Amino acid sequence: MTDQTIFERRESTVRSYCRNWPVVFEKATGAEQVTEDGERYLDFFSGAGALNYGHNHPVLKKALTDYLADDNVIHSLDMYTVAKREFLETFEETILQPRGLDYRVQLPGPTGTNAVETALKIARKATGRTDVVSFTNAFHGMTLGSLAVTGNSMKRAGAGTPLYHSSTAPYDDYLDGSTPDFGWLERVWADSGSGLSLPAAVIVETVQGEGGLNAARTEWLQTLAELCERFGVLLIVDDVQAGCGRTGRFFSFEEAGIVPDIVCLSKSLSGLGLPFSATLLRPNLDLWEPGEHNGTFRGFNPAFVTATAALRKFWADDTFAAQVQERSAELRTGLEEIAAQIPGADYRGRGLLAGIRFEDPDMAEQVAAEAFRRHLLVETSGADSEVVKVMPPLTISAAELQQGLDILREATTSTAA
Ligand code: PMP
Repeated sequence: MTDQTIFERRESTVRSYCRNWPVVFEKATGAEQVTEDGERYLDFFSGAGALNYGHNHPVLKKALTDYLADDNVIHSLDMYTVAKREFLETFEETILQPRGLDYRVQLPGPTGTNAVETALKIARKATGRTDVVSFTNAFHGMTLGSLAVTGNSMKRAGAGTPLYHSSTAPYDDYLDGSTPDFGWLERVWADSGSGLSLPAAVIVETVQGEGGLNAARTEWLQTLAELCERFGVLLIVDDVQAGCGRTGRFFSFEEAGIVPDIVCLSKSLSGLGLPFSATLLRPNLDLWEPGEHNGTFRGFNPAFVTATAALRKFWADDTFAAQVQERSAELRTGLEEIAAQIPGADYRGRGLLAGIRFEDPDMAEQVAAEAFRRHLLVETSGADSEVVKVMPPLTISAAELQQGLDILREATTSTAA
């Protein structure tokens, strides 16, 4: 019996084992995870984007342990606390004001899906309309509303019956140099007889983290934003995975110079990996009456504390963003070099949210498995898992990044051989 079979047998009795990575992790610091047997793994998965500052960053960990040691409030539901006030003020001063952004902050609960559901509900309430347009290969979450705007048939099948009405638009001309063409969408929206009524909102990821690392071009996003504004359709940017610095700026849409009506954040917002999310609303969308939307874990103060520490440590000036941009360029060069060795393979993504797309999805799966054998953790992404996704912590050193790229190169070469 192989180690993997033994592992699956043992772990399947509790139905929560990991087929791709059949080991038991125990410790983690920075870009490294260590198993209970002391085996070290380089982590280029980063909790699917929840660990942008690496595992157990000492500054964030200290903020948490100090907070706990001092009998501060852990759970407060909707009550106002010092920790919540400090988070909101720091977010305003460090993130919103320097970018000239004016948003109200809803704290909808612990997960990215909570942030998306909030966005969808507010968009419907604000416009009085129902439909929400999303894009092919989009991923926005697993609850019924967020799943309805997720463009992955396998994930949608998990709900069994058809989901509420929404339409999926092709996310297909984001890469090439041609003029973005939303003419068909414009005609449908302008024609009340088209059968597709004007939607409440469009929801988009600027880089599709789960859907194959497709990165929207600047002009594509600008054209979409302009179209939404013209028709009074709200633009929701789901920055759950691409936000919090992943693309080299705090918000992934900054480079395009667009200002969404609603922004969803989660994953790395708390910095240390604690569950936390936020939905940012243009002030005119702050429409909920008290009690119209609630949730018990909106008041998880330890996440406010580590989030505040992360904003102060990494986003008080542009130094960290510049470092992420430098690493991003190195990652792109490395991935392009590896892809160039394989016919039909190419680079996908933006910033430190990138990968290699293989023509043969089996190859992507095999490369990820080979990488694991060499102690590098990378996931696959895309409708057919055709992309090897590389997502190191933003804090990674140039040397560690090269180490990971070297392993990936070996994994790719040995798979191709
Ligand atoms: N939106 C995006 C873009 C995501 O990548 C994810 C998670 N992969 C979600 C929403 C859902 O977040 P969560 O799993 O925390 O509910």
